[in-house]
Amino acid sequence: MRFDEFYGQSAVVRRLRAQLQDGAIVHAFLFAGPRGCGKKTLAQLCAQAWLCTGPDKPCGVCGPCLRVQAGSHPDYIRVTTSRTEIGVDDARELIEKLAMRPYEGARRSVLITSPINKNAQNALLKTLEEPPEGTAFFITADQTAQLLPTVLSRMQIVHLGPLEPQLCQQALLARGVAPDRAPLLTALSGGVLGRALELEHDEAYFALRETAFALLEPLAPALLADRLAQVKGYNRQQAAQLLDCICEALADLMRIKTGGEPLALDRIQWLQNASAAFDERALCALQDGALEAQARLGRYSSVQSAMEAFLFILVKETKGWQS
Ligand SMILES: [Zn+2]
Repeated sequence: MRFDEFYGQSAVVRRLRAQLQDGAIVHAFLFAGPRGCGKKTLAQLCAQAWLCTGPDKPCGVCGPCLRVQAGSHPDYIRVTTSRTEIGVDDARELIEKLAMRPYEGARRSVLITSPINKNAQNALLKTLEEPPEGTAFFITADQTAQLLPTVLSRMQIVHLGPLEPQLCQQALLARGVAPDRAPLLTALSGGVLGRALELEHDEAYFALRETAFALLEPLAPALLADRLAQVKGYNRQQAAQLLDCICEALADLMRIKTGGEPLALDRIQWLQNASAAFDERALCALQDGALEAQARLGRYSSVQSAMEAFLFILVKETKGWQS
């Protein structure tokens, strides 16, 4: 991949490109942004550009680029762990490795895309402040708050946000997404390209979303048992996702009420019918109920008791709606 093929964040990418082209760079970068925003891809591109010997870095065709792409460059160091976070042992192993000279040329890239625990961050502090000559760090995090202020102060922070809707749609089309799906995936993902691509194949998500819309339809008390039977077989994760989908639908209803654009572009008619049936107070009560059910799941109540509490509010608030 080349910088030209990276969608969006053009000001950020232009600046990084110039820095890496000149070779006069800061020696530690943090790429921060929501999951799916492309921070790992950009960190990899920069780590490769740092080693590239071609004219337009990363060129993709010079010796170092080919070895990075084949996973065989000895000075392209990816720090990984078998646990969920990089620990102090992994950090010490890296520091030992960096005490030796680079194998090829004068440069070395260190890429870290797993979370780093506090002890490991403290262990890396001195190395980040004064890395061995020619060594540059490329680290990613969902939020800058995951890193200690002392670590952050030693890095150049690169913030990545969502893409403009039009750009996100273009990127989806370029990746083979059907033209009629691109606007919906863009809206549902909030312009986070990786999330949009993940959603495209997430049939379980779309099934839960259908259930969420169905649940919000008029619910007679006699049907409560049926609906409860339907959702009580869900595991904790499914129940949490269902409640997320319910919250998304409620937020769309509130957007319609306040003259905004809903995200569920495929359910505009449904949302318009439903928005006439719920007043703002009912929407707030349902939103509170869904959040409370999420909190119950978080406190390890049973899925059934968490969903029951929500369905009782639902019966009360939807009884007036004639579809
Ligand atoms: Zn190259």
